[in-house]
Amino acid sequence: MNGAGFLPGADANRPPAPGDLALPVAGHKLLTGPDGAFPRIGELPDRADWVPVGTLDGVPAWAADVADTEALPGDWQSWRRLAAHLPEPLATLAGRALAVITWRRTHRWCGACRAELADVPGETARRCPGCQLYVPLRLSAAVLVAITRPGPAGRSAPAGRAASASRPAELLLVRHSYGPTGLWALVAGFVEAGETLEAAAHREVREEVGLALDRVAYFGSQPWAMSGPGTLLTGFTATAADPNAEPVVDGRELTEARWFPLDALPAELPPAYSISRWLIDAVAAS
Ligand SMILES: [Zn+2]
Repeated sequence: MNGAGFLPGADANRPPAPGDLALPVAGHKLLTGPDGAFPRIGELPDRADWVPVGTLDGVPAWAADVADTEALPGDWQSWRRLAAHLPEPLATLAGRALAVITWRRTHRWCGACRAELADVPGETARRCPGCQLYVPLRLSAAVLVAITRPGPAGRSAPAGRAASASRPAELLLVRHSYGPTGLWALVAGFVEAGETLEAAAHREVREEVGLALDRVAYFGSQPWAMSGPGTLLTGFTATAADPNAEPVVDGRELTEARWFPLDALPAELPPAYSISRWLIDAVAAS
């Protein structure tokens, strides 16, 4: 079967062919062709270091580590920019090429005995010829949590006095002290060893804004090419256990945390290609 869409893989059943997709990577940038999509192998100078990264609609795709953007003239773009304008699954393919090349560049030597690692054919993995240590491209899991609470009428109507107007529910958004600091984003963090995704969601929210959660529910996931070679973002929805509790920011990771009515969310939200935004949009539409 010629798989439709993008299928990640590491099999090189044959050498790169002129019509195959080529994804040269220099640092954090990828080369794009004149039409904004990826060039073909036959359009680029010959090189021997193509690494298989999968197939797109059955067409093999190859990545290569290019020393710098000067070495290969063309339109070099960050994954962030590519993800903003390329349709899926092209952005995912670009993310995998960036992840694989970054991993290869940062996992060259055995961490146990310092020998040079060797590629394991057919896998995105290396093995130490000295001590047999197996070094796959490992994923780091991170959680993002969209926390809601009822609107003012729903959470604190005094006894005996009916709430006259039903105000919309509210979503907790935070501002980080690093990265794009102007964005209103979701509470997020990496999963610790020995922790489930759900436990990480509870812990990150408790640590970063001091809130307890109810009804934590899985929403979806997204491979993310920006933070290291293999990050998998997982999204959750949850409600605040105490609807009247206010967030308290830790002051280190976060500078601000605020409840926003779902019909009055701020304009400075995460980009449309991110699971953060998918979560926020889904909650706002519910
Ligand atoms: Zn070793």
